[in-house]
Amino acid sequence: MGLLNKQEALARIPQVDQLLQDEALHSLLEEVPRYLVLDGVRLTLQKVRREILTSEDLWYPDDFLPRESLCRRIQEQVRLLSRPSLHGVINASGVLLHTNLGRAVLSSAAISQLVEVASGYANVEIDEHSGERGERYTHVRELLCRLSGAEDALVVNNNAAAVLLSLSALAVGRQVIVSRGEQVEVGGAFRVPEVMRQSGCHLVEVGTTNRTYLRDYLAAITSETAALLKVHTSNYRVIGFTAEVSREDLVSLAHQHSLLALEDLGSGTLVDLSHCGLSHEPTVQEAIRAGMDLVTFSGDKLLGGPQAGIIVGKKACLDRLKLHPLLRALRIDKLTLAALEATLRLYLDEEQVWQRVPVLRLLSQSVAEITDKAEKLCQELQQRVGDRAEFKVEEDYAVAGGGALPLEEIPTRVVSVVPREISVSRLDERLRLGFKPIFSRIARERLLLDLRTVFDNELSELADAVVFALKEQGS
Ligand SMILES: *Cc1c(COP(=O)(O)O)cnc(C)c1O
Repeated sequence: MGLLNKQEALARIPQVDQLLQDEALHSLLEEVPRYLVLDGVRLTLQKVRREILTSEDLWYPDDFLPRESLCRRIQEQVRLLSRPSLHGVINASGVLLHTNLGRAVLSSAAISQLVEVASGYANVEIDEHSGERGERYTHVRELLCRLSGAEDALVVNNNAAAVLLSLSALAVGRQVIVSRGEQVEVGGAFRVPEVMRQSGCHLVEVGTTNRTYLRDYLAAITSETAALLKVHTSNYRVIGFTAEVSREDLVSLAHQHSLLALEDLGSGTLVDLSHCGLSHEPTVQEAIRAGMDLVTFSGDKLLGGPQAGIIVGKKACLDRLKLHPLLRALRIDKLTLAALEATLRLYLDEEQVWQRVPVLRLLSQSVAEITDKAEKLCQELQQRVGDRAEFKVEEDYAVAGGGALPLEEIPTRVVSVVPREISVSRLDERLRLGFKPIFSRIARERLLLDLRTVFDNELSELADAVVFALKEQGS
């Protein structure tokens, strides 16, 4: 068998036209548009050329580029090109509410309600008794009132919109007092001071970063003040030498001065997370019970529903929000509304909800369950991959993310991977670029697959993707 130098090896790369005659690609042409097959062929050939040019090898065996394996790479490339831009991925990062990975996964109840409403006409804004125009908000109002204990409720596109609408309707041209310790910036450019400015109200900051007292709020109240606002410090916590005014004290100060008490709860939850060994995250019910006039929170954080902004509170306030022209611009769409109603209904059964809402299921899994999954995956991978990598089950910590439980370390188990033939970052890249992308994390020079955020029905796909990424030639 002869050896080829780089130049000769490059000359062995077949022409596009030649390849299109191949049986394997012929059948591909019947399934997807011709331009995609052509793009797939060109991209693959470019990659092969680049691999040869950048390789340290000076000599290549005669049969270094078998036609079958080239066609397989082209098929894989075409499969990637014909996949929708927005597609599912596996979250093995250990961040439960990963904003960049779409936050909460919907429950099956929410998915089927969404499909039902999407598949035909629906009573979105119609009163079935009178046949007259109705309001889309009625579909969730009673549920939200029952679950939170509030008098009235409204839903909009997301929590940023909920805060914007609330301040625009209740405090335009007037002052709103906020603690310096609560000047939150949430990922994706939601900054409390900027949203307040946008709403046309004037932010008055009081206290210091670590300590704010009731007297600080009191001293800032003027005839221009409209409200006191409490913001949940979602993604950080001020610890150490700190002082924060309790919800009850803030409400009573506001009401003594005929001001509104508003709270942006951020994630917000309807269940007590200390039930599954986590630290206490303030619940919506607590904020309402403390007497807050309005409470806003997200639909797709700990609630585990679709992206939405939920506003619950006093009827007099919500009536003003409903009259504001921004409400139309921030309107929730019918698919989201369907998924949100179905999600909220699950909370009516306080026990089952932990199993039925995926984010609560992930949070409440026992370490023993996760260990079991991790050990099985670890064994399978080692068997299928042999000595191309070393796998181990390790103890680690996952996080809630999405601005919930910022300091909480949630015990988990990871399968750590140390590849032998490629670098950890190259493996990470291959996993992200595969047909079913895997998002993991890298620490201690190992790639970590966190099983706390992987659903049972994703385990076999996860294993296949890791095996593929470790065995894949070139690319
Ligand atoms: C997440 C968060 C928001 C933004 O909510 P979205 O639903 O993403 O618009 C606002 N305020 C706080 C405190 C948050 O944690």
